[in-house]
Order: sequence, then structure tokens, then C-alpha cells
Amino acid sequence: MKIVICASEVFPFAKTGGLADVTGALPLALENLGEEINVFMPKYQMVSEGKWHLRKVKNGLFYTVIGKNIKVYLIEHNDYFNRPGLYGEKSGDYPDNLDRFVFFTKKTLEFLKDIDFKPDVIHVHDWQTSLIPIYLKTIYKGVSFYKNIKVLLTIHNIGYQGLFPREEFHKLGLDWSLFNIEGLEFYNQINLLKGGIIFSDAINTVSPTYSKEIQTKEFGFGLEGVLANKKDKLYGILNGIDYSVWNPATDKLIFSNYSPEDISGKHKNKEELQRLCKLPIRDAILFGMVSRLAEQKGWDILAEAMDEICKLDLQIVILGTGDLKYHLILEEISRKYPDICSVHLKFDEVLAHRIYAGSDVFLMPSKYEPCGLGQMISLKYATPPLVFKTGGLADTVCEDNGFVFDTYNKEELIKTIKKALSLYKDKTYWNSLLRRTFNYNFSWEESAKKYIELYRKLMNL
Ligand code: ADP
Repeated sequence: MKIVICASEVFPFAKTGGLADVTGALPLALENLGEEINVFMPKYQMVSEGKWHLRKVKNGLFYTVIGKNIKVYLIEHNDYFNRPGLYGEKSGDYPDNLDRFVFFTKKTLEFLKDIDFKPDVIHVHDWQTSLIPIYLKTIYKGVSFYKNIKVLLTIHNIGYQGLFPREEFHKLGLDWSLFNIEGLEFYNQINLLKGGIIFSDAINTVSPTYSKEIQTKEFGFGLEGVLANKKDKLYGILNGIDYSVWNPATDKLIFSNYSPEDISGKHKNKEELQRLCKLPIRDAILFGMVSRLAEQKGWDILAEAMDEICKLDLQIVILGTGDLKYHLILEEISRKYPDICSVHLKFDEVLAHRIYAGSDVFLMPSKYEPCGLGQMISLKYATPPLVFKTGGLADTVCEDNGFVFDTYNKEELIKTIKKALSLYKDKTYWNSLLRRTFNYNFSWEESAKKYIELYRKLMNL
């Protein structure tokens, strides 16, 4: 099969979250299973030509190669993409995001024709590339090159829908008849993800539980009705982890390598993490977090609980960026409890690896979680996760490999932290828990097979 993966971020070129991990790893897994893959993404400032040995195809289009022969095409536009951020900066989203992603999606379709690569399936991700299925079924409908190309839309997080004022509708180049509630209109605004759902041949989310949850009012962010209408075309495929990046046996970013055969290095990672974070080097349970600082990640209850948590006999290392209000709360907490809580308000790949390896428990009490990579990564590093039972967390974490609470509030969170704390003191239990984490494997191969099955289903439509 010929597949195009089109996304606004792809690891290792540009990443703000799990989306990039998926679009970076899935092509490699698909290629290993014999498929022919091309990837399209914007050429952001951070994608330096020298570092990635970019080659120019024609004006505005570059490529580099990953895996054996996967071409990653980078679409250039100096005004739109030669900026420090992907979608915005500290002051907020870029005001011309609609122009930027209209440009990117149209150019992707046009360049496909220029390089003469006609895919069987274009696999798009989130609102940023949702215009592709819309364009294929409208303005490019009569063009023979695009005939029979099928589109799969993966929703990584339905909380982000690409909403823009109706006044910008003319920028899409679409007929105004599409601006209605059967189309792209959403409470008098443009909703790109909604359009993507309606015009794609199939939709999937990144875990089976989340694919059910988003059909409910509680989790659907207003799109539950649109999704329920496409229920027979809605699937749930759990993300995998790229174990060539995330593996304590080979990870060059951690202090000491370890594996199921010899786990002794884990202890050294904890000690070095404590040293790095200027925490007392002692045998207290160490909780680690690597997280966007957003309510979705549990920060509403965490912020309320933080003071109480920091009075317990534990240590906590937090790495994250996000909402200013949580930055301020965390700065205050780390000032108040310097021997308990170490806070790092930045995006730092190296420190992330060190936290996964050096913590005793990975804290991830997300309010909702489409899939979640943190808990799967931490399991690989023998760091049991502590989670709220929702979405992908419910599909991957259980009492056998971690800690789970099922009522979302501060009290239950603290109760579960206390439970981990007391079980940590039982070294026999703790060692067997660590051993059990190694039994959970979330490699991309299994997920990629499910995607191939779904692509085939679309081709036969
Ligand atoms: P999200 O909803 O943010 O995509 P996921 O759990 O799916 O959440 O993926 C988050 C990914 O981003 C993980 O690979 C995690 O390690 C990484 N990450 C999140 N915040 C940071 C940070 N501040 N520094 C380094 N890596 C981070």
C-alpha cells in the first residue's frame, strides 16, 4: 500500500506532545511491515537544514529520509513557519493559524501531484490537517489524480478542534454552503476538526476506551453528536511506544542503563536524579511527572492537593510547561518545599528521560486521556504509573502494574498517593511490582498492524 502521513508535528523534527511521537514512530513501524510511506509536515524554524541534511525538491519543498526509505517532506513558507513556535508562543496562539494550515494542507495535496505519488490512503491527524479530507471531497473532487484516495483522520485529543471566527471562512476557499451545522459550522464558528470528521472515510482515536468516551456529552466537547452519527466508521487503536527511543537498556540520556535481567541501575538513576534536582539523597518514594501543565493532565486537582502532598514523606520532581496559573502555583510550592518538590518549567527531552528512569512512581492523574504515552513509557522504565481511570490510562494501567483511582477528586488522588507510599515501604511487594511492569509491552508493531487492517478496509470501500 502507498500511504501518506500528514501532520503538524513529527518526532524528531518538531514536537510539542504525543502527536509527534505517534507520527514519528508509526511510519517506521509501517515500513517494517512492508508498506510504502511518505510523510508531510511544515518546515519549522527548528528543523535546521544542516542537522537533517535536507534536500531541495523544488521551491518550497524539501525532504529528508528516515527509516530505510521513508521520505519526510517539509513544506516551506518563511512567513508562516519560520517562527520559534509551532502553533504559538507564550503570549498565545498565532493569530494566523488558519492561514498557516490552509496553506500547509493545500500545498501537501499539490506537492503529491508534483512528485507523482498517489497514495491509497492519506492519514491525517487532528484539526491542523483536517482540511485535507474536506478539500479532497470539494475543490479537488474533479481532479483525476485525487480520485479514490481515502482518508483516515486520527483524533489525538478532541479538546483541540481548530476553532476560528466565521469571518475567516473565506480563507478556506470553500463554498459558503459548507458553513452550516451539517458542515463546518459550530456555534457560529468554523470548526476544522468537525469538518474532518464529516469528510473523512474513517476516524479513529488513540485508545479503545477514548473512542467510546468521546461519543458522550462528558468527553465529546460538543462533537459527541457528530461522532455518534459516524459510529460505524469510528475506531480505537492504542498508540505504541518507540522502543528504540524509550528503552532503559540502551537509553544514552539516562545515568545508568538497566533491564529486566539486571535492574540494579535503576537505583543509580534515582540517586542521580535527586542530586540533579537538589533533593536530599535518601530512601523516600520519588514521584515523577512529565506533563503539559493543563487541566486535562489533572492539574486542577493536583494544584489543590499539592500543599497536602508535599507534607507527606515523599519527594516529587515535576517537568512541564503550560498554563501560566500552574507555573505560578508550582513556583510557589517549590519555594515552600525545596527538599520535597523540584520543579522544572520547561520542555527538556533529556530531563524527561531521567525522570522516567529515576522515579519510583510516575504521576499522571489526567482528567481525560485519549491514549497517554507517559504511562506506557514509565512502565518500560519499571516506574509504576499512578493514574485516574480514564481513556487510554484505563486501557493500560491496572492494579497489577500501577495505581488507579476511579473518582476524579483531590481526596481520591491523595488517598492513592498514600497507598503507593505505604506499599513502597514493603520492599518485597515493591520489587515484585517493578518486575510486573516489564510484562506490559506496547510496541508499535501491534498498533501498526491494526492501522494496516484499517487502511485496507478503507481501500475496499
Ligand atoms: P500529550 O497530551 O501532551 O500529547 P502524551 O502523554 O500523549 O501527552 O505525550 C506527552 C509526550 O511529551 C511524552 O513523550 C512526554 O515525555 C513528552 N513531554 C511532555 N511534556 C514535556 C516536557 N516538558 N519536556 C519533555 N518532554 C515532555
